[in-house]
Formats: sequence, C-alpha cells, structure tokens
Amino acid sequence: MNKKITYKIYTLGCKVNQYDSAVLKSRLNQIGFKECESSADLAIVNTCAVTKTAIHKNSRMFNLAKKENPKAKIVIMGCWPEIDNKILIKEQADLIRGVGDYERLIKRIKRFFPELNEKNKLLDSIASTDRSRYFLKIQDGCEQFCSYCIIPFTRGKLKSRKSRKVITEVEFAVENGFREIVLSGIHLGLYGREKDFKEKINLVDLINKLLKIDNLERIRLSSIEVTEVTDELIKLMSENKKICKHLHIPLQNGSDKILKLMNRPYTSGDFQKKVVELRKDMPDIALSTDVIVGFPGETEKDFQDTYNFIKKIKFSRLHVFPFSAHEKTMAFNFPSHLSKEVIKERAKKLRKLGKELEEKYKRKFTGRNLAVIVESKNGAYYIGKTEYYFDIKFKDVDVVDWCGNDVGDLVRKKLKITNIK
Ligand code: SF4
Repeated sequence: MNKKITYKIYTLGCKVNQYDSAVLKSRLNQIGFKECESSADLAIVNTCAVTKTAIHKNSRMFNLAKKENPKAKIVIMGCWPEIDNKILIKEQADLIRGVGDYERLIKRIKRFFPELNEKNKLLDSIASTDRSRYFLKIQDGCEQFCSYCIIPFTRGKLKSRKSRKVITEVEFAVENGFREIVLSGIHLGLYGREKDFKEKINLVDLINKLLKIDNLERIRLSSIEVTEVTDELIKLMSENKKICKHLHIPLQNGSDKILKLMNRPYTSGDFQKKVVELRKDMPDIALSTDVIVGFPGETEKDFQDTYNFIKKIKFSRLHVFPFSAHEKTMAFNFPSHLSKEVIKERAKKLRKLGKELEEKYKRKFTGRNLAVIVESKNGAYYIGKTEYYFDIKFKDVDVVDWCGNDVGDLVRKKLKITNIK
C-alpha cells in the first residue's frame, strides 16, 4: 500500500472526549492511517451530550464532517449515541459507537478498509504524534447525578484504571518524548474509590507512584471537584515541583440556593474556604472553573451572587455554559426556566468578567522566568503552555534556557507583557 488511508477526528465536549480522541488517533496511526487536514477517507465525530446545545452542535459537526469529507466513511462515537440510538438512521452515519472499547471500534473501522497494511505501524505512530502533552484517562463514570447533567446516564458507574496500567502508559509516553502528562477522568478525585476496585489506592497514592518515573517532567490534573481537593493533595502539590500549580475546580454557580437545586455537594462558603487553603501554600496557583448561567429559578440576585463570588475568588480562567438541559435530567422538568435572551445576556457579562480576570492573572507573571512546554510553531514563533495553564508566544532568541528546538521541548522563558497570549 503506497498511499496511506487518511482520517480526521472532530471532537466536541470535555477533556475525557479529548483523551478518547487522542487514544483513537494514536491507535489509527499505529495501524497505518494518516491524519490529514483536507478531505479524508475516514471522518470520526466524537460527540458530547452534556446539554441540549451540545447535541445540536453534534448534528452541525456531523454535517460539517460530511461536507468536508464527501467520500469518507463517517463514524459517530461518544456520549450522543449512548442516549439516542437512532442516530445512525437519522444522520446516515456509516457506523456509530458509544464510549470506550476502542479495540472493537478499530476492528469495525478496519473492515471499511481491507487494503490496510499494518507494517511499520508503531514507527508511524511515534513519528506522527505531537509530543507535548499526553492526555491520560485514569477514571470514568460518575454517580453524583447533578440535576443538570446527563453524564451519569451515559458514562455509568465509577470505574478506575489499574495503577499498573496507568504507570505503564505513562512510562511509554515519557519514553516517547511527552513532557507533560494530563491525568483526566469524569470524576478524577474519586480515583480508586469504587467499592469493587481491587487496589487500595487513591489519587494522591497514584500521583506519588507516577512521580517516581524517570524523566517525567510534569503532571497536571485536568478537573477535580472541590470536595475532593484533600489536605493530602494540597500538601503533595505544594511540595512537588513536577505537579503543575493549576487546578480546574468546577464551581457551577455562586448562589447557594442554585447550588442546592443543582445537587452540588458544597456551598459557596465551602468553596471559598478551599481556595484560601490552596492559596496559603501556593499563592500563585491557577484556579480555573466552569459556571452554568441561567439555571431554572436563577433570579437577578442569584446571578449577582455568582458574579460577585467569581470576582472575589479571582479565577484565572472561566468557562461559561448557558443552561440547556437534556430531557433525561431532573433540571429539565424544573419550574421557572429563563428566557434565552436573559441567559445570553448573563453569559455575556460573565464571559467579560472572565476575560478581565484572566488578563489580570497572567500579567502578574510579567518579568518572571517560567517553564514552558512548546506546543506548536508558526513561522518564527513558538507557542507554549506554562504550568499555570496559559499560553505564551515567543521566538527562540527570547528564551533563557532552551534544551532542544522543537514542539514538545521544555524551555524556560522570561515573560514580557507582549509574550502572553
Ligand atoms: S459531578 Fe455532576 S457535573 Fe460532574 S459528571 Fe458527575 S453528575 Fe456531571
């Protein structure tokens, strides 16, 4: 086979979906596929079903995939098929699959391309993967049933990966040049906590094991619930330079009344207390968050409480989600749904605040030397990520200490205002 079979993956939704797509990408490369920008032979749409808006986006993305790849076999995967098994007929995809079980998915994809040659597969995979950050899913499933969230219906019960398997995968990633490992999960803080999990291990124990791996430079946690940020975790993070000083802790709302309706197990006071504890040991820590705006029953005062709370906490980054619940969730049947206009207006205000807080946070690093992982190159410029989860743009001549010259390198960079993206 001279010409490689090409593919494109369209990913929607959360970090776990990004991880799933990264794993699939790596497996496709291994078996001889080649990722491409133009029209591909295979197009995969990795979907999300967290809200109704997300479901509409899936449909739009599916149509885009068909338009951009007119001759391709089209695959739909992810959370959407888990809640709607009629998509195949409705959307005329060639294949649908839910979440997980990549090997079965790969087997089915291979059937579309009998000419596929598996020779030199591992070499191809290593050459064609970008080597900056490695997303590693160590946990799946959630049993919390927040009233607005479809995930417990689509992802099911808590499931942790065996520590041995996680360690082996991290060793593989490090050997292949990845500098940063991003540990992800649907409910990451509950790693190892399900009753039927055979090992006696928690997230901190696992990180401690990973820190012993030679040449591992950085570990980042993707998202963690505030109730699962333990003293043990704070101590480990503050004492260990390899763990990025960044946590993404979903707030969802700053009004205690709305938090209760959302079935979130904390108050704004609990959240603030945890932030104080984190900043006591790590004053510069980046704290990013998610917030849902326009939840049913959210009054102007509730919104103002959220706005003020976010301002008080000074998050380093804010992801704003306008409320739109799936039929299966409890919140769908809650009274007092807000109009689209009100939700849009409130979302706009919060996004503006988020931008201001983000700028303020980044600027305090001006003049400091920061370690940066190079993620991409555009002409003479490189773009890289700091441990504090913001990007900087620079030329190699600006760098204080450069140990290489390519994407995936770890460099030290003195920050000027103009560098910060
Ligand atoms: S914790 Fe709540 S929001 Fe997060 S996945 Fe579970 S149910 Fe959804």
